[in-house]
Amino acid sequence: MTRPSTSGRIEVICGCMYSGKTEELIRRMRQVDIARQPFRIFTPRRDTRYGIHQITSHIGTRLEAYPIDSIVEIPDYLDDAVQVVAIDELHFLIDDADQIAAMCQQLADRKVRVIVAGLDQDFRAQPFLAMAHLLALAEQVTKLYAICVRCGAYATRSQRLINGQPAPAAAPVIAVGGLDMYEARCRACYEHPQ
Ligand SMILES: [Zn+2]
Repeated sequence: MTRPSTSGRIEVICGCMYSGKTEELIRRMRQVDIARQPFRIFTPRRDTRYGIHQITSHIGTRLEAYPIDSIVEIPDYLDDAVQVVAIDELHFLIDDADQIAAMCQQLADRKVRVIVAGLDQDFRAQPFLAMAHLLALAEQVTKLYAICVRCGAYATRSQRLINGQPAPAAAPVIAVGGLDMYEARCRACYEHPQ
């Protein structure tokens, strides 16, 4: 099957926890599905909060997804017909920033529309490097906001909590968790881990 003459591109959906990244990814992929464009959705195997073969937003919407550990697995799941590749929770992949950027560029150069969603900052309010790379390379960037649980302002940071207190800076960068473990906070209410 020959690929239709659409041009490839990279779209990034970023923001903090509870900003609606997965909902936005699902919204775009539903449109793709309705338009009958062949697509594949990938989700890191590490994100085990919900069912393993689907992406589920916090509000419970679901779409079928292929679980992967590394971005280099993606071509194994593609054929020439696939026009859209979506990756949810990109920050959970094991690869370094260069590998992730190289694969997204390669796909987009092959006329695939690549849509990635993920956290732009870790719980220490430092950039996730893979996301930082893609934000620079992308054709389209959507930064979403949550609402600060303390003051109601726009939140851009994910505060990780342990027993209700900010997690220490030495804690692992990746820790999967939900409402008991993360709060969305604004710049003023965010507490820098010690
Ligand atoms: Zn606040």
